[in-house]
Amino acid sequence: MRLPLFVMFLLMGLTPMMLQGLVMGRSFRRTQIEGRIIEVQNQSLITSDRLTRAEYMAAPSRDVLLDKELDTIADIFNGRIVVVDRNFRIIKDTFKLSVGRINVSEPVLRCFKGENSILREDEKQYFAVTAPIYDNTENRNIIGVLLTIASTENILSNVHSVEETSRLFVVVAAMVLILAGILLTMLFIRPFDRLQVSLDRMADGSLDEAVSENTYRETERISEAIQKTKTKLQTMDRSREEFVANVSHELKTPITSIRVLADSLMSMEDAPVELYREFMSDISDEIDRESKIVDDLLSLVKMDKSVAELNVAQVDINVLVQQILKRLQPIAEKREIELIYESIREVTADVDETKLSLAISNLVENAIKYNIDGGWVRVTLDADHKYFYVKVADSGIGIPEDAQESVFERFYRVDKARSRETGGTGLGLSITKNVVLMHYGAIRLLSKEGEGSTFTMRIPLTYIY
Ligand code: ADP
Repeated sequence: MRLPLFVMFLLMGLTPMMLQGLVMGRSFRRTQIEGRIIEVQNQSLITSDRLTRAEYMAAPSRDVLLDKELDTIADIFNGRIVVVDRNFRIIKDTFKLSVGRINVSEPVLRCFKGENSILREDEKQYFAVTAPIYDNTENRNIIGVLLTIASTENILSNVHSVEETSRLFVVVAAMVLILAGILLTMLFIRPFDRLQVSLDRMADGSLDEAVSENTYRETERISEAIQKTKTKLQTMDRSREEFVANVSHELKTPITSIRVLADSLMSMEDAPVELYREFMSDISDEIDRESKIVDDLLSLVKMDKSVAELNVAQVDINVLVQQILKRLQPIAEKREIELIYESIREVTADVDETKLSLAISNLVENAIKYNIDGGWVRVTLDADHKYFYVKVADSGIGIPEDAQESVFERFYRVDKARSRETGGTGLGLSITKNVVLMHYGAIRLLSKEGEGSTFTMRIPLTYIY
């Protein structure tokens, strides 16, 4: 960014200056020469008028004063003045070279015809102007021509020196511009540099520092975006820490129980075999629990991986639900809970069979676990043109209103003791929710404490990759 900015700045500064120098130089040279021509023309008209009045043509050799004046004027213009008479003979030449010679040059001829002309020879650095000399009669006949030849050499050398000065000015200005360019570019870039430093510090791990660079609206927006990303990172960091703390706590609980059971057995001198058996069975239960927590955690970690992990295939959902219910039937029967299946229509959908089966199982298992003895669980399968719906309703204990939001969180349980009793890990619903989200679906809970709960999941029939 630094170099393009600097080059842009230089070009913007130098281009107009150079263009102006070029155009001005040309027009300056032209106006200078034209100005000189007009000046010489005027002077020549004045002089020719004086020659007319002094009747110079009649007796040129006698008017010494006028001769001198002609010499002076020629000197002033760094030129030469020639007077030609009616017979084209040169009667006066300030260079004294051609007196007596004939001059039939074009300007002279034209002047005798009454046309005033200018002869410009820019290459040879001179120009010539003519002015008529009249007789003093009424008719004002042209009896002579005053030819003034002036050099443009000194004008051009003037122009050159002006051009030289302006070139020097351009060089100085360019140097000033380069310095200003470096300074301005540095100033302009500085907020971005500061942002870069902040980002580097963030990358090094200091997430607590605020990033705010409000010099430009752009840097302000970038800062805001960084701030948002940072907040998200911090939230993720916190939730990861929380998760690890929860996991450690959950994993430690069964281990603590096992230790307590084992220690108390060991502290007893001669415990009866029955007591050993009872304690060992408790220890075995705790190990099962630990193993279940580990299994659930592994399922959850798998869900957290990318969606590409989904093994999507056409699955008959009716068959899937029936298999789940068949598997859970014995657990329900133990507590005389009636399992009802209501299939409103045949449904086949693109889903990951294993994951969806786990999600529905969790819902039905919960419906049995958190039910009353002799209650019922009703599973309904329905579909429309876009989605299929699995509804799991129970006649159980229900979920208090203030806990309904939280039940999908990891390790959240409404009643810790009861969940523990039934072998719950607090991970079931969060696994279910993850599976539903992976299928781009949604899950909803309706429940009233003491009356029962209804979980409804909605999943698209076709999976969009
Ligand atoms: P758990 O392993 O404890 O069952 P879940 O994530 O499956 O964990 O459920 C979280 C909590 O939500 C449970 O501990 C329970 O308190 C409550 N819960 C879930 N399903 C139901 C239900 N059908 N009826 C009443 N409470 C439920």
